[in-house]
Amino acid sequence: MIPSKGYAAQSATTDLAPWNFERREVGPHDVQFDILYCGVCHSDLHQIRDEWGGSIFPMVPGHEIVGKVKKVGAHVKKFKFGDLAAVGCMVDSCRVCPECNAGLEQYCTGTGMVGTYNSRGKDGAPTYGGYSNHIVVHEDFVLHISDKLSLPAVAPLLCAGITTWSPLRHWKVGKGHKLAVLGLGGLGHMAVKFGVAFGAEVTVLSTSPSKEAAARQLGAHKFVVTSDPAQVKSVKGYFDFILDTVSAPHDMGLYLSLLRTDGTHICVGIPSDPIQVHTFSIMAGRKSLAASGIGGIPETQEMLDYCAANNIVSDIEMIDIKDIHKAYERMLKGDVRYRFVIDMATL
Ligand SMILES: [Zn+2]
Ligand SMILES: [Zn+2]
Repeated sequence: MIPSKGYAAQSATTDLAPWNFERREVGPHDVQFDILYCGVCHSDLHQIRDEWGGSIFPMVPGHEIVGKVKKVGAHVKKFKFGDLAAVGCMVDSCRVCPECNAGLEQYCTGTGMVGTYNSRGKDGAPTYGGYSNHIVVHEDFVLHISDKLSLPAVAPLLCAGITTWSPLRHWKVGKGHKLAVLGLGGLGHMAVKFGVAFGAEVTVLSTSPSKEAAARQLGAHKFVVTSDPAQVKSVKGYFDFILDTVSAPHDMGLYLSLLRTDGTHICVGIPSDPIQVHTFSIMAGRKSLAASGIGGIPETQEMLDYCAANNIVSDIEMIDIKDIHKAYERMLKGDVRYRFVIDMATL
């Protein structure tokens, strides 16, 4: 076993604190890399507080991981010592079910995907995430990243990026479409960047008028304050797609009314409680209510390559790992543009 150190929660009610643990030896198909930066995702907080249930403790969170390869197994073909490498939300899956064969490992119907943390690998051992000094992952779940982009700003692409990329690509959102992005946080700001890059007309829907300048700076064409009835009325039946990144409770009926006939509302945020929708809200206008979760390995690589070619990264604020709790508090208040990234040299 390889001695490792990280920040862990020992239970749902304890703060993160330094913790020494072990990772598996580098197997023939494994890549071990030193973690240089790790993004801070809202789901880290949900899981260390056991808000989705079933959390495994001690827990080392973190699934927006970038670093440099330290060691590769004898049969590894994709990576060599010194390469940049990244890992997102999953580190394994069954690899034989139809979904895995289609590159949709996140929807694996065999054994289910193995999460980067708060999950169990095929050996039954708990997985530990990126708030740590290094990680060992099968090469099939390690991604290539370009040295042309700012490395810390690439980290959030591994969750916030792919979570918005995947639905926009799946529904082929682009030229001629009117896309609304609901919520302007870690996910929302990536949705705006991708929507604009794909040629859609992008509108940010937000409760706070103060976010308009920032939204336009990201490239949004329009901005609608959802607490202003006149502004809301001006976009009734207007959008082809709404990408809903909000993880707090919100009025689905209101947002569905902003879709045109045959429009699609896509949820990527996960409110803790079930959402309530009246059938009329989707029946009138034959609308679709859908959801999408992260993205598969091939499309994650495609996104990273696209970002390298088009100079797209996340807007970040770098933090010392000792300030992680302050960062969580600010994240809950939406006080971050738009993603915290931990400088792992501070571990
Ligand atoms: Zn995440
Ligand atoms: Zn599978």
